[in-house]
Amino acid sequence: SVRRQFRAQQQQQNFMMAVTHELKSPIAAAKLNLETIRKHELDPEKRLKLINNTIKETNRLDQLCNNILLAAQLETHKYELFKEPLNFSELLDNSIKDLKIRLTNHQIAADIQPGVWMEGDKLTLQIILSNLVENAAKYAPKNSTIFVKLFENQQHQLKLQVTDEGPGIPDEEKERIFQKFYRIGNENTRKSKGSGLGLFLTAKIVEQHEGTIAVKDNKPTGSRFEITWAKFSLL
Ligand code: ADP
Repeated sequence: SVRRQFRAQQQQQNFMMAVTHELKSPIAAAKLNLETIRKHELDPEKRLKLINNTIKETNRLDQLCNNILLAAQLETHKYELFKEPLNFSELLDNSIKDLKIRLTNHQIAADIQPGVWMEGDKLTLQIILSNLVENAAKYAPKNSTIFVKLFENQQHQLKLQVTDEGPGIPDEEKERIFQKFYRIGNENTRKSKGSGLGLFLTAKIVEQHEGTIAVKDNKPTGSRFEITWAKFSLL
């Protein structure tokens, strides 16, 4: 029990350090960009680059705020899922289009079985996909491919897989990464940015849609996040 408490405390501390950094760095970058635009006569190309960069930073900030708020709301059961019959294939296709525009450093290959309907909450289902694909882009090398696949298997289960060619996740970490604030490694040595909330949130949303989530190894390298729905939840 003491060990568990100690670990929870450490995770909280990690979270505070990560979030402080995550909140402060886009603000600092956006502020610097705006000050540069105000102070100097820039050529249009340079100006546009700074503006685009500022928009990117504020998007990052917006996403982190959304994640923090949604995690708090889901935990206290204050977020009401608005479930409705929806074309899941179409929702994924549209989200993938947006992700392709946003994540230009990676190839995104999609294989989405058409015409899959389910009862779900649009907003949070989109968050699942963007969290998984954005993680893949964050941890897998530039120019590698991220595969998104939706299909019904022979056992009539519906599977959504997001597969990357990154470093993969060690077996002993495969369950822990879904815990709140959990990030692999140490805050001082870690290179990637993050809050440890993305997968916690993803798992919570999957649970609220009567699905299960697991991570497997991709071959020869990388990880595969797989969400499974039993046939009964399909419409
Ligand atoms: P964050 O990315 O903000 O740290 P997440 O909850 O999304 O938080 O992920 C938790 C941890 O799981 C990450 O810190 C990272 O160590 C690991 N992880 C998640 N996705 C991947 C991936 N696709 N490849 C390798 N490691 C990953």
